[in-house]
Amino acid sequence: MFDDKVRELPTLRWAMVGGGKGSQIGYAHRCGATRDGLFRLVAGAFDIDPQRGREFGVKLGVLPERCYDNYQTMFALESKRDDGINVVSIATPNSTHYEITKCALLAGIHVVCEKPVTFTLKEAEELKAIAKDHGLILGVMYGYSGFQMVHQARSLVQNNLLGEIRVINMQFAHGFHSQEVELNDPGAKWRMNPNISGPTYVLGDIGTHAFYLGQLITGLAVKKLCCSRQSFVKSRAPLEDNAHVMMHFENGAVGMLWASAVNAGSMHQQKIRVVGEKASIEWWDERPNQLIYEEQGKPSQVLERGMGYLDSHDDAISSDRIGAGHAEGFFESWANVYARFAVVINAANANDWQTVNATWFPDVDAGIEGVRWLERCVESADNDEKWVAYRE
Ligand code: NAD
Repeated sequence: MFDDKVRELPTLRWAMVGGGKGSQIGYAHRCGATRDGLFRLVAGAFDIDPQRGREFGVKLGVLPERCYDNYQTMFALESKRDDGINVVSIATPNSTHYEITKCALLAGIHVVCEKPVTFTLKEAEELKAIAKDHGLILGVMYGYSGFQMVHQARSLVQNNLLGEIRVINMQFAHGFHSQEVELNDPGAKWRMNPNISGPTYVLGDIGTHAFYLGQLITGLAVKKLCCSRQSFVKSRAPLEDNAHVMMHFENGAVGMLWASAVNAGSMHQQKIRVVGEKASIEWWDERPNQLIYEEQGKPSQVLERGMGYLDSHDDAISSDRIGAGHAEGFFESWANVYARFAVVINAANANDWQTVNATWFPDVDAGIEGVRWLERCVESADNDEKWVAYRE
C-alpha cells in the first residue's frame, strides 16, 4: 500500500499561477497536490483576468489578500512573508512558462511547471542552472508518470525480464481535434498558435508525455531521429496536428512515436510498447490498472495493479492508494507525482541532496529532454524529414 511515511512530511505552502476557472488542467493540479496534505493552497495568480482569478481563489479558500493580480506581485510579496509560499505550480499556456518559472526561481521558490517547460532548449537549460544555483527543485508535470503500472513496467525492464530492448513504440493519438474545433474553443485555439503554443502543437502537447514515459520505462538514450509532421486541418499550419517520429537509440534499439489530434474516434490511445529479446510489455493509459506482459512462447499475462506479485520494493506497490481491484486512475497518478515533488522539495529545504538524487520524480532534465526532442523533431520535419543527431 501507499507509503504513509510520505504523508508525515511537512506541509508545503503552495500557490498556483494559472489553472483558473474553466481551465483544462488546474483541477488536476489541485487534486494531485492536496490529496495527501503535502501541499496547502495559500496563494495564487489564477487567471489572466485578475478579478475572475480573485473570485475563483476565494472560492478555493485562499485569503483575498493572497489572490494576486499577477505572478510578479505574488512572488515579490510572498517572498517577503514569514509564511510565504515555498512552491508554485505553473499551469498557464506554454509561451509564459519560461518567464514565470524564472521569476519564481529568482524569488527563491520551488517550481512545478507544466510541459513543454520552455520553447527552446537554451531556455530550459538556463532554468536548470538557476534552480541549481539557488538549491531549488524544478519539476515538470508529466502527470501520467505516477501510474503504478508504468513503474512496474520500468521495474521489469530494469530487472532484465525483457532482455535487451529492441523496439520502443510510443503513441498519444486522440481524435478530439479532427475538425477545426478551435474556432469555438479558446483552450484549443491557443494550442494552434505558434506564438503561444511554441514551435509545435501535438508533438509538444501530447507527444512529450509518451516520449517521457518511454524514457522513464526504458532509460534508453536517443541517438538520432527523423520526424514527419503535417497539419490535416490546413489552417493549423505551420503547426502540426499529426506527426510520426522514428528514433534510433544508443543501444541499437529502434522506435516510433505517433502524436496526433486527428485520430478520429480515438479517446487517447496513449500506449507504450517495449519489445525485448525475450518478452514485451504494453501499457495503455485508458486501462492504467493493467500491464500486458508477453513472454515469447508463453500465454500473454495481464498484470494487475496492487497485487502481491508486483515488485514490492518498487514504486509499483509503494504508490498504491486503494488496494487491488478498485479502479484507480488519473488523479492518483497526479497525486503520486505531487507526493514525489513534496519529498524532494522538503529534502532540498533540509539541504539533503542525497535524497533528492535518490528519488525518482519528473525533474528539470525530463523537461529539458522534452524540449530537446521537440527541437530535433522540428529540425528534421522542416528539412525534408532528414535524420538528425539527437545530441549535438
Ligand atoms: P487553459 O487555456 O485551459 O487555461 C490556462 C489558464 O491560465 C487560464 O485560467 C488562464 O486565465 C490562465 N493564465 C493565462 N496566462 C496567465 C498569466 N500570465 N497569469 C496567470 N494566469 C494565466 O490551458 P490548459 O489546457 O489548462 O493548459 C495549461 C498548461 O498545462 C499548458 O502548458 C498545457 O500544455 C499544460 N497541460 C498539461 C496537461 C498534462 O497532462 N500535464 C494537460 C493539459 C494541459
